[in-house]
Amino acid sequence: MFFNKEEINSRVGSSAPGVIAIMLLCLCGCNAGYIRPPRNRQARIMVMETTGYCNCGKCCGWERSFFGLGQPVYSYGPNKGKPKQVGVTASGTRARHGTVAADTRYLPFGTVIYVPGYGYGRVEDRGGAIQGKKIDLWFSSHEKALQWGRRKIKVKVWL
Ligand SMILES: [Zn+2]
Repeated sequence: MFFNKEEINSRVGSSAPGVIAIMLLCLCGCNAGYIRPPRNRQARIMVMETTGYCNCGKCCGWERSFFGLGQPVYSYGPNKGKPKQVGVTASGTRARHGTVAADTRYLPFGTVIYVPGYGYGRVEDRGGAIQGKKIDLWFSSHEKALQWGRRKIKVKVWL
């Protein structure tokens, strides 16, 4: 099938808004633009110890059963040996940039946090070692999580 120049132009023209929309979606997804602080509430400034984590077995306490060949299972804790859904947070959402693990006794699920150098995040996860004034920030790779390291910084919290 052949298209003349005009036909091609009109086809490209009509798909351009779609392409732009997809690009914007990606940009927003990568920058956690889907998280917005609540407008009617003031943020509290809190000093917190922040660390990074990813979906890997080291960060999330899982390993593969059957000598590393089987399905992911919890490697320790009360669920040891039970199947683990990798990349799914304690609140049931899919972990992505902006996912924050916190001590939900102090910062309940849904709490929006602004972390300088990371951006907006939302409490959607928990972690065994994440207690008190500690939060864990999700990164797409273990390397990036390590790069973040451990930073005690002032963050904004919308409780
Ligand atoms: Zn990791």
